[in-house]
Amino acid sequence: MITTTGLLRQHLIDPEVCIRCNTCEETCPINAITHNDDNYVVDPDICASCGDCLGPCPTGAIDSWRIVTTPHSIADQLTWELLPEDTDENHESAVQTDDEVQALLEVAHQGAPRAVAPKTASVPHLNVATRHSPIIATVMGNYRITDPHSDSDVHHLVLDLGSHAFPILEGQSVGVLPPPAPDATRPVLRLYSVSSPRDGERPGHNNLALTVKRVMDDGSGAPGLVSNYLCDLVKGDQIALVGPFGDTFLMPTDPMSNLIMICTGTGSAPFRAMTEFHRRHLPSGPGKLLLFFGARTRSELPYFGPLMKLDRALIDIELCLSREHDVPVRHVQDGLRDRAADVLELIEQDATHIYLCGVKGMESSVRGVLTESIPDWPTREAQLLREGRLHIETY
Ligand SMILES: Cc1cc2nc3c(=O)[nH]c(=O)nc-3n(C[C@H](O)[C@H](O)[C@H](O)COP(=O)(O)OP(=O)(O)OC[C@H]3O[C@@H](n4cnc5c(N)ncnc54)[C@H](O)[C@@H]3O)c2cc1C
Ligand code: SF4
Ligand code: SF4
Repeated sequence: MITTTGLLRQHLIDPEVCIRCNTCEETCPINAITHNDDNYVVDPDICASCGDCLGPCPTGAIDSWRIVTTPHSIADQLTWELLPEDTDENHESAVQTDDEVQALLEVAHQGAPRAVAPKTASVPHLNVATRHSPIIATVMGNYRITDPHSDSDVHHLVLDLGSHAFPILEGQSVGVLPPPAPDATRPVLRLYSVSSPRDGERPGHNNLALTVKRVMDDGSGAPGLVSNYLCDLVKGDQIALVGPFGDTFLMPTDPMSNLIMICTGTGSAPFRAMTEFHRRHLPSGPGKLLLFFGARTRSELPYFGPLMKLDRALIDIELCLSREHDVPVRHVQDGLRDRAADVLELIEQDATHIYLCGVKGMESSVRGVLTESIPDWPTREAQLLREGRLHIETY
């Protein structure tokens, strides 16, 4: 809770936007976040406004604040469907600017800054469509993009947005609301990174692409609810979307920028969007694109064929295959270690931005190899984050 001029600035979670992913509850160091079947909420008696939970939240729902005279109780928050308005009519005098709030949070955060967008990123649109007013898109195509013989079933979906204004930037995600189950008490929502650039999968048409991995039933749980719904859609089907989400994992628009992109599996989706933007609009650089792409085999790599056809003057691709019979076992961290000198040379340049996207587990192994190969990595990591040059999205 941040106090200003006698009023209180209460930290809350927007129930309309929150996807109930539990990340904030796992992140909060002092257990200020709790949930019931409906909502995730912040306990005003515990929250110290440290800001640790803000960066990891994939939707931005956690970055919600209200000016109050008496804090909203947990019991009240657990029943909300919408955030209430500020309760004090004179709240204007107490509302701090974003910069002031950020400064307060950083002090409270003891110097560890939260991620910020690249300085030259375009300004993103956020929450244009909400759970209560989703937009309806039409499936224009749904193709498997991994080898039909591989165990990994990844689909490329093209969605037509009709006449809806739904502007997306490279790196942003959208929420998918599947048709509700008859006994559901509230809608299910999952996030998917958009894999087409800002001008869409097909420029001149109002559309976007998603890259979705079918989560199979591996015997330990149920098959993935929304990924199977998406992978089974056929041309002409209609689908409800919310968002867009994400205001920091964005691409710099300065043509001098270098992008180091590190991913596994569907973590490649935002990098397809960024690479496609460069291919269409900045084909001859001068910025460099360096991609580290990890998978077990070539047949499991989404977009393997089109990726291999990209001009090497546009993008430097380091494939890291861990179970391919004709190449040595390599994970993304091995690729990074092998190219540490190139990575260091790029990081030394202010125009370089590093992105990491994919399964949660890769984050610690990538950080491990960067610590080992790049001098003074922990200090550099904090600096890169502060400068909007390091972006991590794992799920
Ligand atoms: C910011 C963000 C961006 C994302 N972008 C993408 C994207 O571009 N493409 C994409 O495919 N997904 C993406 N995801 C993940 C996506 O939101 C879903 O979590 C995923 O599709 C599984 O949802 P589901 O409803 O199919 O599975 P659920 O019904 O939620 O899960 C069913 C079972 O599968 C397990 N499970 C869930 N996910 C996985 C998994 N990935 N691998 C193995 N087991 C799993 C669960 O523990 C459970 O037992 C993203 C997530 C976030 C937060
Ligand atoms: S979407 Fe954000 S606020 Fe909601 S549970 Fe996930 S991390 Fe928490
Ligand atoms: S701001 Fe800090 S204390 Fe408050 S909920 Fe977030 S992580 Fe917890």
